Amino acid sequence: MCARCPRVLGRSCCEVSEGEHLATLTHADVERVAAHMGLSPSRFSEVEWLTLEEALEYERRRPLYRGYFRQGPARLTLRRRSGACVFHDAREGCVLPEEVRPTACRLYPFELWPDGTWSLQVERLGGVEEARAEGGAGAGAVCLAVEEAEQLEDVLAAFGTSREALAALGERLRAEVRQHARGA
Ligand code: SF4
Ligand code: SF4
Repeated sequence: MCARCPRVLGRSCCEVSEGEHLATLTHADVERVAAHMGLSPSRFSEVEWLTLEEALEYERRRPLYRGYFRQGPARLTLRRRSGACVFHDAREGCVLPEEVRPTACRLYPFELWPDGTWSLQVERLGGVEEARAEGGAGAGAVCLAVEEAEQLEDVLAAFGTSREALAALGERLRAEVRQHARGA
């Protein structure tokens, strides 16, 4: 699915323009990726400073990230190079094996909402043409799988996942955020 995105929509959600943001990382993500790639964290991650209000709003809208900013309004994120995540390959997509990828990347485009239900981080524009006209999938504005789906079950099937698998990944992220909040 994601390998088709640049060709069909013009770009994938791992490609970003100036001012757009990539996934939020926890210390656990950084350690896992650094160990697998043999890279120092500064080669692939960076800090984005938010205002206190932005940090509070971020946690309010994303229950899985409650406590993330306990040590301060600093968001860890992926570095970019030539308009894309440093791990993005134009032909292959993400070069990280799935089990090494940041948990936020593995969950995308699904999201646990404040009311406790799983839904999508992106709006459905109504079709592939509309999504292409909107500028493609950069920064997670739209998602090809969502545009091609008629219901949430179709999106789950497109990513070969299930509600149970999402719930398990969500619990993993919650635990990683708790650890992050302790500065560990
Ligand atoms: S780590 Fe992989 S999936 Fe996540 S933004 Fe980078 S290229 Fe995309
Ligand atoms: S926008 Fe959707 S289909 Fe495209 S690369 Fe991102 S997650 Fe995959």
